[in-house]
This record gives sequence, structure tokens and C-alpha cells, in this order.
Amino acid sequence: MRIARFTTGDDPAYGLVDATGTKIAEITGDPLYTKIELTGTTHAVEDVRLLAPVIPRSKVIGIGRNYADHAAEMGNEAPAEPLMFLIPNTAVVGPGDPVVIPPLTSEVSYEGELAVVIGRLCKDVEPEEVSKVIFGYTCANDVTARDLQRGDGQWARAKGMDTFCPLGPWIETDLDPSRLSLVTRLDGEVVQDGTTADLVHGVAALVSYASRAFTLLPGDVILTGTPAGVGPVVAGQSVEVEIEDIGVLSNPFVAR
Ligand code: MG
Repeated sequence: MRIARFTTGDDPAYGLVDATGTKIAEITGDPLYTKIELTGTTHAVEDVRLLAPVIPRSKVIGIGRNYADHAAEMGNEAPAEPLMFLIPNTAVVGPGDPVVIPPLTSEVSYEGELAVVIGRLCKDVEPEEVSKVIFGYTCANDVTARDLQRGDGQWARAKGMDTFCPLGPWIETDLDPSRLSLVTRLDGEVVQDGTTADLVHGVAALVSYASRAFTLLPGDVILTGTPAGVGPVVAGQSVEVEIEDIGVLSNPFVAR
């Protein structure tokens, strides 16, 4: 299933998106917590405003340097164990929402990534049990202020500023994440062309590893890292992250 969160002007609702990505069938509640039941109302996707498909209940966990080619382009080696950081849920925005570049930074980069959405409260999950706690997958842009990343030491501002974590366009619940093409476009030009087959630490390992440090809650999100090809993005440009069998997440960048 493809599960979207959307608004037609009223309170946000959830719906099931069809295979063509053009129709959305409204459901009664939040599918993270309630059984999926159709309301009988359908919309054309183009007639609704898609929202971030999930607002993480407690946290977004980011993983740094999880593709060897990206670690190398930044002058690093991929770490032997996953390198984790936290992004506050106030950084999350949805498809089409502007990423707002604040005056705090003059060097912002896009990072196209596969995002894992957790479906169940869990802790100390064994890798072979991870599929039971995953709700689904979506696209993410792990927007990063490189100057703050270098200067701060901690990555809280660099990765966690308001609007720096676009998610969407929807959550795909039936997906094998092990070999998906991941393409990022800057103003329509391909700048990242990777595959999740190149993840240093795969999805099962990452979720298991994160769950040893943190209790994971329904709606928590884990970003799995970005392939090579990161680069600057400035106000007036837009970035698309497309992942095979999920869809396209597109966001304009603006200056505050
Ligand atoms: Mg990243």
C-alpha cells in the first residue's frame, strides 16, 4: 500500500494512493494506530495537498556516511559501526513544501535518502525481527548546512533546522529495500544516482542498531544515508529525490 497524508483545506487526513499515483482513497484514522478502513471518499491526487506522510512522534534518527562513495567524497571512510545523529520532528516538512534557508548558513547541501518509518514500539530488536517493526518506506532529503556541520562539531543545527527534513510523497508499506535505485535531481539535472544495494549497513542492521540505543516509537523515522554526489543548493532551486517503487519527493528552496 501507498499511504499518504493530505489536506483538502480541512484537518489532515490519510488515504491510500493507487498504483498510478493519481487517485487517493480516504481512510478513517491514522493507519499507524488504527485498522485501515475506507471512508468511501476519493480524490484526485492533484486536487489535494500532500503533507509529510508521517510526523515522527519522538525522533528522526539520521545515519552518516553509510555509502562508501559518499564517505570518500567527503574525505572520510565509512565507519565500522553506524554513525547516528538526531533530527527534531520540527525539521520535518512534506512534498512541495519550501526548505527555508536561514541566515545562519551560507552553504546548504541536498542529500537524497531512503527513509524507514517505524510501525511499533520496540527496543533491542534483532536484525532478523526488524521487518516486524517497520511500517514502510518513503523518500527523504537530509538537508545539511555544511558550514555549520564543520564548525559546530555536533550536527544538531546542521541537520536539524526547521524545514531541513522533507519526507514524502507517501509511505510504501510493501517494499524490499535492499536494491532500489535512488536518484536526486537539482533543477531537473541528475546529481546523485545510487542504489540502496550500496548501503554499508543495510536497513535491518540500522534499525536493530538504533533500537539498542533508543526505544523506537510508531512514526519514528530512520534516514539511511546518502550516496555520492552531494552538492550545494541555493534559494530559487528545487531538489527531487526519486526512489524506485516509492515515488518522487520534490521541494523548492527559499531564503528567509
Ligand atoms: Mg544524510
